[in-house]
Amino acid sequence: MRPAPTILHLDMDAFYASAEQAAKPSLRGKPVVVGGIGPRGVVATASYEARVFGVRSAMPTAQARRLCPNAAYLSPRFTLYRQVSETVMGLLHALSPLVEPLSLDEAFVDLEAGGVAPETAAVRAVGEQLRRDIRAATGLTGSVGLAGAKMLAKIASEQAKPDGLVVIPPGTERELLGPMSVRTLPGVGPATAETLRRAGIHTIAETAEAGEAELVRLLGKAHGAGLYAMALGQDDRPVVAERDAKSISVEDTFEVDLTDRTRVRTEVLRLADRCVQRLRAAGRSGRTVVIKVRNYDFSTLTRSETLRGPTDDPAVIREAAVRLLELVDTTGGVRLLGVGVSGLADFTQEDLFAQLTTEREAEELARAAEERAGAEPAEEAPEEERPRRWHPGVDVIHDEYGAGWVQGSGLGRVTVRFETPWSAPGRVRTFAVEDPALRPGEPLPLVGGGPAVDQSSDPAILPKSVSEVPESPGDAASDPGEEISRR
Ligand SMILES: [Mg+2]
Repeated sequence: MRPAPTILHLDMDAFYASAEQAAKPSLRGKPVVVGGIGPRGVVATASYEARVFGVRSAMPTAQARRLCPNAAYLSPRFTLYRQVSETVMGLLHALSPLVEPLSLDEAFVDLEAGGVAPETAAVRAVGEQLRRDIRAATGLTGSVGLAGAKMLAKIASEQAKPDGLVVIPPGTERELLGPMSVRTLPGVGPATAETLRRAGIHTIAETAEAGEAELVRLLGKAHGAGLYAMALGQDDRPVVAERDAKSISVEDTFEVDLTDRTRVRTEVLRLADRCVQRLRAAGRSGRTVVIKVRNYDFSTLTRSETLRGPTDDPAVIREAAVRLLELVDTTGGVRLLGVGVSGLADFTQEDLFAQLTTEREAEELARAAEERAGAEPAEEAPEEERPRRWHPGVDVIHDEYGAGWVQGSGLGRVTVRFETPWSAPGRVRTFAVEDPALRPGEPLPLVGGGPAVDQSSDPAILPKSVSEVPESPGDAASDPGEEISRR
């Protein structure tokens, strides 16, 4: 534990959904859900307006539609999110050489390594300036947590949401953590919380008071001892810059233990894709593929396979991860899955070339994972050779009406709303899907792309206008039989 709150955790607020609201003026102040929109799709991000209805990340989209039928349901646009992410990560790298990205919109920064004075006032000023800079550069808001340990900084940014900053001065963490639910601590899912509840432990203070021996008795040695340290706010993990990392890994804890083998496999593939995204973002490739499986009883095992040479090829890493999964018995239920790559190497010249040629492919990775989860992997002809598919949310350009986005599609028609990040909420028009005047567009920059407007004073998560749009966004003219089942 550091004597000053010099570890910063940044987390953008409802990132994908906020980016969509910034891009699409008619959706500002309205419920927006970004994710897989097919029958087996999963919510990636819900806007705060959708969260009011109980919609959450990782929830099946079908369930979200029942809770919030009037939300706009949009396919993710990773090209845009990556552009915004690069801008945000650039601002973080200006603060310190030690930046540890956790995802496109989340990172730890070691401010001490960046030469910031180890004082609460100084780090708070840096955090507030960072939030202003992010808003000016991206039009989006991010929340900042500052503390003397990574775990605490992350809890602080969660407390700060949305659009806020929280500092946990060292020495105050036990007082602050004490009344919080034990669920706040990393690694405490519903099952652990239930075990603790039956022992009369609900808060972090009660967890600390229970003592290490009691927690070990309840939860086993590793988990009990780890939980005790966290309840005391003890976490000495350093911020590790991705380019210095010896390995890159991603993992997910599940709300309910996974028992379905197909689902476990799907999750491993999804994690492999996320791992490759991070590997590529860091400009690295790796030689050893590792999977981590934590069972219902908290027994945790890893399996690894070393390849002949370093790779960042998603197909190779996915295949290796699935091969490794075959070696693991998951019939009792899986609580956590992870996929990692170690033995990292920097790119060679050929790799760099390969990276350029496969850039588009990388962009589609997470999307493809959603599609695989959502539908049978049909043989796909090139775009030109089959009828056009217009996914809700994607950018289009019309020869006469200009830039817009697909609001819905089906029955041979596509509904487009013509608006840009810097325009007023736009009008909707419907075309035949084959209309030659309509073609795919590119994401427009969220700020600075058009005539000057008051973007700097108007973050995307706040409603710019509360006036009603004519149609329910996202669902207009949608036909589940045709378009929606594709995603
Ligand atoms: Mg976020």
